Amino acid sequence: MKVLTPIKRLGQNFLQDPNTIRKIVGSLEAEKGDLVVEIGPGTGALTRLLAERYARFTSIELDERAVDHLHQILPDVHVIHGDVLKFDWSGFAREQNVERLSVIGNLPYYITSQILFSLLDAADDLKEAVIMMQYEVAARLVAAPRTKEYGILSVAVQHACRPKLLFPVSRNVFFPRPDVRSAVIRLDFSKQPTESGVDPAWLRKIIRTAFNQRRKTLRNSLSAIVQEAGKPLPEDVAPKRAEELSPEDFVQLALYLHDA
Ligand code: SAM
Repeated sequence: MKVLTPIKRLGQNFLQDPNTIRKIVGSLEAEKGDLVVEIGPGTGALTRLLAERYARFTSIELDERAVDHLHQILPDVHVIHGDVLKFDWSGFAREQNVERLSVIGNLPYYITSQILFSLLDAADDLKEAVIMMQYEVAARLVAAPRTKEYGILSVAVQHACRPKLLFPVSRNVFFPRPDVRSAVIRLDFSKQPTESGVDPAWLRKIIRTAFNQRRKTLRNSLSAIVQEAGKPLPEDVAPKRAEELSPEDFVQLALYLHDA
């Protein structure tokens, strides 16, 4: 396979190991007829296998060299040349007439959080996402309250889907070898834990504000929001710190403050 010279600023660390590739693709629970979208196909490590398994398959790649390369080695595969951060997941699902998309990707790590938030915003139109990211970020996604990994990402992700850390991935299976450890995680959007009706932007504002000063009690960290809402925090919540609230507690708090 022709290998492109990796561009660091595009997060290009290409998978080299067939076993790891099979394991990642095998972690998708999508059925044969489902529409699968790959983020950042690069030189096509996952793409080849995905295209064999799924008749309805699309990939999105920013690097024009990789797009040309994919057209050569996999001429039948649909590749969108573009920025995944500008991709409209919900619009694409509607346009393709599918209820829910399955997403997969060895992510460009420099934009992991932004990609995650864009997927969370499209939660209703996704079935699952099998994604590789830096190990420490994956650990934050599945972290429990009262741990040091528990934070904005944990609450936002666990509110929108069920995340499961599937397996770690050695640095040695990439070219070039990355500086950080990796892990594959599966986000299951099919059974959303909370159908709360809370406004996602409002919930995110509360989570961000609370965790931005995570050492303070919520009475202090949320004082501006509480003042705006015009009613005090519930007595059992005010003395706590952000890391002591579960995703469900944050939802309840957001609903309570919105009712002001
Ligand atoms: N899937 C390949 C593999 O596993 O070997 C490549 C993975 S590499 C970690 C990340 C890929 O995402 C690169 O091909 C990179 O060019 C692409 N990429 C980086 N930024 C992107 C963006 N904003 N939108 C779409 N693709 C992007």
